[in-house]
This record gives sequence, structure tokens and C-alpha cells, in this order.
Amino acid sequence: MSLNIEQLRKEFPILNQTVNGRQLVYFDNAATTHKPRSVVERLTDYYYKENSNIHRGAHYLSQKATEAYEDARKTVATLINAPHKHEIIFTRGTTEAINLVASSFGRKFIRPGDEIIISALEHHSNIVPWQITCEQQQAKLKVIPINEKGELILEEYKKLLNERTRMVAITHVSNSLGTVNPVKEMIEMAHQHDVPVLIDGAQAIPHMKVDVRELDCDFYCFSGHKMYGPMGVGVLFGKEEWLEKMPPYQGGGEMIKEVTFEKTTYNELPFKFEAGTPNVGDVLGMEAAIKFISYLRHENIATHEKELLSYALEKLKQFEKIRFVGTAGNRTSVISFLFEDIHPYDTGTILDKLGIAVRTGHHCAQPVMDFFSLPGTVRASLAVYNTKEEIDTLVEALGRVREMFA
Ligand code: PMP
Repeated sequence: MSLNIEQLRKEFPILNQTVNGRQLVYFDNAATTHKPRSVVERLTDYYYKENSNIHRGAHYLSQKATEAYEDARKTVATLINAPHKHEIIFTRGTTEAINLVASSFGRKFIRPGDEIIISALEHHSNIVPWQITCEQQQAKLKVIPINEKGELILEEYKKLLNERTRMVAITHVSNSLGTVNPVKEMIEMAHQHDVPVLIDGAQAIPHMKVDVRELDCDFYCFSGHKMYGPMGVGVLFGKEEWLEKMPPYQGGGEMIKEVTFEKTTYNELPFKFEAGTPNVGDVLGMEAAIKFISYLRHENIATHEKELLSYALEKLKQFEKIRFVGTAGNRTSVISFLFEDIHPYDTGTILDKLGIAVRTGHHCAQPVMDFFSLPGTVRASLAVYNTKEEIDTLVEALGRVREMFA
């Protein structure tokens, strides 16, 4: 089935507006996607009809909200094919999910002299939490290097894995270059050394079907807001065998069984990792986003976005002085580039004046930019509601940018 994009765009009222007198073209989807009506309506519905604190009230509304929240956990488990729903922990987003694992797993399993492997493609949120863990546990951070195309060098990865390795944490899809990493193969390689693997799926989940059982990853993290859902909510999937052994990340209500001043016992999974009142409304909004994606089907989303990506690359090639940063064989939905000799910030500013939203800078992946010896790039990132006409508008606008700097 091919998607009716014109129809689909009507579900996103925000797209229908002018910016600086021109029709908005939104190409900053890797930063955050827009939300369809069904997501916004789920939020208002919850606050108008169901709002209540969950898991503790005997009254009608509390039970209704609790049921809805726990149903959303099932929806997430189904989305990623998690074996058990108690392996789904709701967090504030990918960042918090990674911090949870780095902190809790780190305290329990990482000792002085141990090693943690990340990659040169990581977003800061899959670097800094591990640096903190390394500092606290006196462990060492090892980094899988990349080649000029922006692909991980697997031979180097193989060399880094050894008996001191305690964790591999890598991104599924690079937010700065769009590289899709061969995570299944990398997980297999780590497991040969009995090393668990955390996958940062923030940029994968909106674009491709993710099956945590097929990948056999130990942890998988993602954010609601990059997959057409609300901000401030996300998911950590963790295998039961690890989550059971890990200590709580935060203390408070909900995560306890019994509290005395002498001793506290902790609640079972997943509640052990969900201290305090959860973000019920946004969890339900995220569930609506998952339903939206499931309705469109990941295959159709991927087909449409692939077509857009090839179309954009082909069209942009007409410029003699465009340099694509990141040219991996397997990539999705992100085009990072430099245009003429113009600073990315200037290109971005003029595009904005022409109604086009792109991102400029290091994209929270400064080490990637350092590798290419660049202060930053212009990044156009795609979502399912983007069109070829919008790409034509970008190409035309870049023509204007070139004229202005000629
Ligand atoms: N990892 C990747 C690959 C990302 O793109 C992002 C967001 N740009 C994050 C992690 C962090 O996600 P969040 O800010 O939603 O926690």
C-alpha cells in the first residue's frame, strides 16, 4: 500500500502554516517530529476524562487511569516484540533510559579496570552517562572508530571486545549522519564474550520495525517525541534477567514494597524503576503515536522515506559545491551537508527566512563533527509527512542561498 501523504498531512495541523510569509517546510524531524491529531486528542481526552493518580487509588478514575497506563505498556511491548510487559520501563526519554542503565548497571556490575564500549557515532546522551559511570567506577571508555563514510569499523570493534568489557552501548541509527549500524551482528559479537548490549533506538524507531527478540539486545531505548508522540516520555526495554539484578535508579513512592527507617524492600518489575508519580498523560499520548505508526505500517513509512531520501540526494547533487557528510551504504532519513563555502549556520538562517526548518551545528554529536574536522553541518531530516515538493522547495531555496553568497 502506498500512503496518501496529502491526506496524512491533514492530521498534522501545525504543518499548515506560513513562516516568514512562506509555506512551512519542516525538515527537523530528527530533533522532534510533529504530532498527529490522534496524539493531541488522546492527551486532552485523558485530562478531561481520566486524570487520576495511578496504582494506588481504589476509586473509579484511578482504576481507569491505571488500566490505561498498563495497557500502554502492553502496546509498547507489542511494538518492539518484547517477551514480557514488565520489561518495559517508562522514562522521560532516551536520555533518562540510558542514564538509568549507566547508573544502575554501572553500580552493580562495573568495577575498576573494566571497560565500556561505545562508538564514535553516538549522540551525547550515549556518551556522557557512560563517562560518568567510568569516573565513578574507575572504568575505561573505549570507542569504536568510524570510516570516512560515517560507518563503524567492525574489525576495530572486534579488537576492542575482551574479557574486561562489561557493556557495549551503541546507536541503532546515527542522528547526525543517518548511518544505520549493523546492530544485530554487533550484538552477536558482544554476546560471544558474554557482554550485554544497549541500543539507543531514538532515531530508529520512527523509521523501521524494531524487534528486540530478533535483535537479542539486552536494552533498547527510545523517545516518544521523535516518533510522533509527546515530549517528556520514553521507553527503556531491558531483559528481565538484567533488570531483576539491577538496583533501583531513583528512590521514592511506587518503587517500594515496604519502607521502615531500618530497611526498605523494593517493588517488582517494572515498578522498581518507576519512582514517583509517572507521566501518565504522555504515556497515553505515546501509545496513540504507536497506534498511528502501526496503522500506517512501518514498511510503508520506510518505503516512502527511502524514496524521499534518494530523491533528495539526487536533486541536491546538481549543486557542484555540496559536500555530503556521511555517505554510509545503509542510511535513513538524514542528509547532513555543507553548502558552497557557506557556514552551516548562515545556510540554516537563510533557509529559515525562506520558511524551511533545518538544523545546523553539531547535532549533539560533537565527536562526529570532530572526526570530519567540522564545526557542524546543515541537517535535513525526514518524516513520513514530508513530500518531494518540499524537497524541490529546499533545492530552490539553496539556489537562492548560493546567489546571495555569490
Ligand atoms: N540518541 C539519539 C540518537 C538521539 O537522536 C537523541 C535525540 N536527538 C537522543 C539520544 C536523546 O533523546 P532525548 O533528548 O529525547 O532523550
